Amino acid sequence: MTDLPADPPADQTDGHPENLPAEADVAICGAGPIGAATAYFLARTSPELRIVVLSADPADDPGHVSTYRYSGGSIRWTWPDPVKQEMTTETAAFVQGLLADGVDLAAIENTYHLLHTGEHIPALNISATRLVAHLLEQAADAGAQIVSDAVVEGVRPDGSGHLVDTARGTVRAERVLVALGAANARLFPQTGTELEKRQLFVLDLPVPPERARMPHTIVPVGDGFGYAFVKSVEGRLRVLVGQEDIVEDDDLSGPVDHWTALLDSGLGTALPWLRDAKVEQILWGVDVAQKKLVLDEPSPGLLLAGCGSSVRSSAWLGRTLAERLVAQPVPSPRARPGSAGSRPPARR
Ligand SMILES: Cc1cc2nc3c(=O)[nH]c(=O)nc-3n(C[C@H](O)[C@H](O)[C@H](O)COP(=O)(O)OP(=O)(O)OC[C@H]3O[C@@H](n4cnc5c(N)ncnc54)[C@H](O)[C@@H]3O)c2cc1C
Repeated sequence: MTDLPADPPADQTDGHPENLPAEADVAICGAGPIGAATAYFLARTSPELRIVVLSADPADDPGHVSTYRYSGGSIRWTWPDPVKQEMTTETAAFVQGLLADGVDLAAIENTYHLLHTGEHIPALNISATRLVAHLLEQAADAGAQIVSDAVVEGVRPDGSGHLVDTARGTVRAERVLVALGAANARLFPQTGTELEKRQLFVLDLPVPPERARMPHTIVPVGDGFGYAFVKSVEGRLRVLVGQEDIVEDDDLSGPVDHWTALLDSGLGTALPWLRDAKVEQILWGVDVAQKKLVLDEPSPGLLLAGCGSSVRSSAWLGRTLAERLVAQPVPSPRARPGSAGSRPPARR
């Protein structure tokens, strides 16, 4: 049993560290679904801006969790809540457009099956690491600079802009987006965002062809719910089972094997064919609990963004945050000749 990521990390450097720029118009801290999607939309709609993405992974900074690497990558786009509905519909359309263009996100189309209503609701399961890698690649093609080994250590005000301190040096940027996922709270403890611990069990159960489009089944488990679905992990179809917040509140140390408890608390009764399965891998991560955008602006031009279930909302989040970042003009002393930094953002 390991807690290895489901896919290879999105390394943009082939092992060659990039130069850290001294200045940028926009610095995006963190290259998870939120940071990568924002870089993608910003670079494509505002190519005149100097955009730098400051990214690191736990190999550079063992203290932090890179949540998207453990994501189930599930995108369901129908919700009674109108905000969730808008966020996920836009993302599903965006992802389906990428798939139609032949982008390989290791996608599985299936449905959500709500056991209590018997409803089947359309859904997709994608690889979040592939999505992030694709978004960063496209952002880089559109002119953004991706620095993939820059551990962000703090953000300080500096005149009209901000200084972003990293383990490799300091970048001055007019506007800064902090999108470090669960690690946002490390840099800005006062934000007090509630965190959620999630586990996904990757089972050693063989997936027969007729189960390849198995409904993503929601099961009441204890006081909450569990879910079981099929997804491609490391190129092979696997049955995955997840439940949120099953790790003890004060335990951020890593995966805990709650498989037997999950089966005993209702999963084994609802889905008896799972009873003989063994756990092959536990994917574990800490997520921002709020399922909608949590946006804070501690000082003008400094945005702090978090959102639980960001994969299924990534396109909406990226476009929205890109629009926020260009909503005010870059102050004129920094604006370069011909800069159109103040023009209204394109809406996709
Ligand atoms: C087990 C599990 C299953 C999930 N399933 C789903 C699902 O099916 N569908 C869905 O939509 N969501 C799912 N999620 C939630 C989803 O993965 C998160 O909401 C999403 O990853 C959050 O994106 P983010 O960009 O805010 O943060 P993250 O994904 O955590 O990305 C932040 C990035 O910043 C980097 N970073 C952190 N600190 C620093 C630093 N100091 N300097 C530089 N870089 C740093 C991290 O390495 C990471 O690359 C799941 C989560 C878990 C744990």
